[in-house]
Amino acid sequence: MLGPVILAASRSDKMRRFVSAAPGTKQVVDRFIAGETVDQVVEIVRNSADKGLEVTLDVVGEDITTPEQAAGARDAYLELIGHLADLGLGTGAEMSVKLSMFGQSLQDGHELALANVRPVVEAAAAIGTTVTLDAEDHTTLDSMFAIHEELRKDFPQTGCVIQSYLFRTEEDARRLAAAGSRVRLVKGAYKEPASVAYQDKAEIDKAYVRILKTLMHGQGYPMIGSHDPRLIAIGQELARQAGRKLDEYEFQMLYGIRSDEQLRLAAEGHRMRVYTAYGTDWYGYFMRRLAEKPANLLFFARSVVTKG
Ligand SMILES: Cc1cc2nc3c(=O)[nH]c(=O)nc-3n(C[C@H](O)[C@H](O)[C@H](O)COP(=O)(O)OP(=O)(O)OC[C@H]3O[C@@H](n4cnc5c(N)ncnc54)[C@H](O)[C@@H]3O)c2cc1C
Repeated sequence: MLGPVILAASRSDKMRRFVSAAPGTKQVVDRFIAGETVDQVVEIVRNSADKGLEVTLDVVGEDITTPEQAAGARDAYLELIGHLADLGLGTGAEMSVKLSMFGQSLQDGHELALANVRPVVEAAAAIGTTVTLDAEDHTTLDSMFAIHEELRKDFPQTGCVIQSYLFRTEEDARRLAAAGSRVRLVKGAYKEPASVAYQDKAEIDKAYVRILKTLMHGQGYPMIGSHDPRLIAIGQELARQAGRKLDEYEFQMLYGIRSDEQLRLAAEGHRMRVYTAYGTDWYGYFMRRLAEKPANLLFFARSVVTKG
């Protein structure tokens, strides 16, 4: 019940101002956001690599309103890639991008987002790594998939994300699996209407398994984006049934969530990639993390009250 309310609040400027100014916010935000600056996140990438964890890095900030901000997003990623070059981690440190941040929702947004993301994908390839296009709300996905297909002509390693809560995803998965794409499968984190998405958790989980089976038996590289212990076990079994070796798929989890499980999977020899978000415009990202687990909201409310 609480999840949809929090997701609605994630679109409200009034709530953004309230949450950003609340006294205990920083303490809770720090659990999910790895830092504010590129130097801070590079330190975390180094520590993660020492522990056997790979990363995908996300510069937070999807709610942009001008082409200048979209160009700023591109530059922030280019700056990040400049720093990653020195670490020499190759695909051990890749990038995740939200096309909204690259201008997708502005006028001529499709072309603008493609023009802004292409140099990032090029720069990533130049240091031996890749970019994955995150999935946002369902109205943005046709454009995201078209940009993904366009980028793959020159950079076939470019990845994308699909969400098991959407009815369309089984079809998308078949196309992407046949095309040999890198694909991250997640349940989905946005507020979607019943006309396009399953609302029932059990239905979303069942769809996740069906889609993962398609990906595992396809030509591409499946990335299992979930903290759900049941789906992680099923993912391992499906990989085994499909005859995939340990380096032919990977697990992905979010920074700050089930960290022990991340280390356990890495220690078992799995490729474990941590989605590591950083930057100052964390509001949308943070609210989705609160919506995923109501207990987070209680923790947040408590810290606001005690610090206030
Ligand atoms: C690497 C990665 C990338 C993602 N990229 C996208 C994307 O591009 N587009 C998109 O729509 N969604 C994305 N998501 C979010 C995803 O859609 C889900 O909202 C999120 O992963 C929660 O679903 P779950 O599979 O972990 O299962 P759940 O059933 O929600 O969670 C399983 C267990 O994990 C733990 N857990 C899960 N979430 C939290 C949390 N926020 N705080 C504390 N504990 C938690 C809890 O113990 C919970 O019981 C991504 C998720 C991951 C892991």
